[in-house]
Amino acid sequence: MDIAIIGAGMAGLSCGAALKEAGHRVSLFDKGRGPGGRMATRRAEVDGKTLRFDHGAQYFTARDPRFAAQVERWQSQGVVAPWSAAKEGAWVGTPGMNAPIKAMAAKQDVTFGKRIEEIRREGKALWLLDEEGTVGSAFDAVLVAVPAEQVAPLLYAHQGEFAQLSEDTVSKPNWTLMATFTSRVDHGDTLHDAGAIGWAARNSAKPDRAGETECWVIQASPEWSEEHLEEEKDDVIDQLLKAFAEQVGTLPGTLHTDAHRWRYARSGASGDKALWDADKKIGVCGDWLIGPRVESAFISGVELADRIIEDG
Ligand code: FAD
Repeated sequence: MDIAIIGAGMAGLSCGAALKEAGHRVSLFDKGRGPGGRMATRRAEVDGKTLRFDHGAQYFTARDPRFAAQVERWQSQGVVAPWSAAKEGAWVGTPGMNAPIKAMAAKQDVTFGKRIEEIRREGKALWLLDEEGTVGSAFDAVLVAVPAEQVAPLLYAHQGEFAQLSEDTVSKPNWTLMATFTSRVDHGDTLHDAGAIGWAARNSAKPDRAGETECWVIQASPEWSEEHLEEEKDDVIDQLLKAFAEQVGTLPGTLHTDAHRWRYARSGASGDKALWDADKKIGVCGDWLIGPRVESAFISGVELADRIIEDG
């Protein structure tokens, strides 16, 4: 089949890789400028130096043997490394969290910077449309691999049940502060569940970031993020820096600060690992079907591919 996948995060790419391996032609489209999704790595130029922040997922764990095997392959490619400072069994991308996503995308046909607005059916053929019109050619199947809240607008006209399921799933937001300091913050490499802060990590202490400037990624707790969701970025930066200082003591000066509002950071779980309508040739995968983790996204993608392959 000629299969289109909307969304090239961990779920879309793991699904695409398995389908390609099984002999299908797969085209992925992602609205992001580059590979990452919620495993993104943000860059900033400060005084001629490139700074990097893993401003989405901080680390991941691997419990399912299928994901553990994939993590082992990534380790041998040098795109992930263990990071026990987060917790026992934790892994991070190297040199940035998006490295495994980049490695997967490099082996597939992915178009970045393409926001799909609509799926249209003509007989058996499925077409994708962006704001300028038709994208690519006709497809035999379309798979949607985007956060829960972004599924329904694409699917209501085609598969109401899947659209409704996604609408019933609520994701928690997350405000994330990225800060670079003039010298070392007097604290260990991580901090969690402390006042307004849900999780904070010295990004520059992760593996393969040796010699990097003192960079921290400071994620607000889900409650704080919800309460301050619509506030201006600069106000959020000030408040989170203060909250961080309350936990670690007086902070050195800052060289650079930025913040990112993730509206749909961590999803709930719908109960079904992947959704496939064999008659309509519409499928859905994503972390939100299993739980808010990188591993869930990978497994959901693999499960969707398995169902399509079983279908012949
Ligand atoms: P995504 O990574 O969101 O991929 C979906 C893709 O779809 C995106 O690239 C997006 O650009 C694209 N897209 C959306 N709409 C469209 C459209 N209309 N057209 C084209 N493209 C579209 N997980 C852990 O395991 N451990 C953690 O510590 C952890 N911490 C986290 C902290 C934060 C702040 C966040 C945001 C997430 C965290 N997670 C963590 C969750 C983890 O990042 C996700 O579970 C996982 O990356 C989801 O993968 P996905 O492929 O399902 O979705």
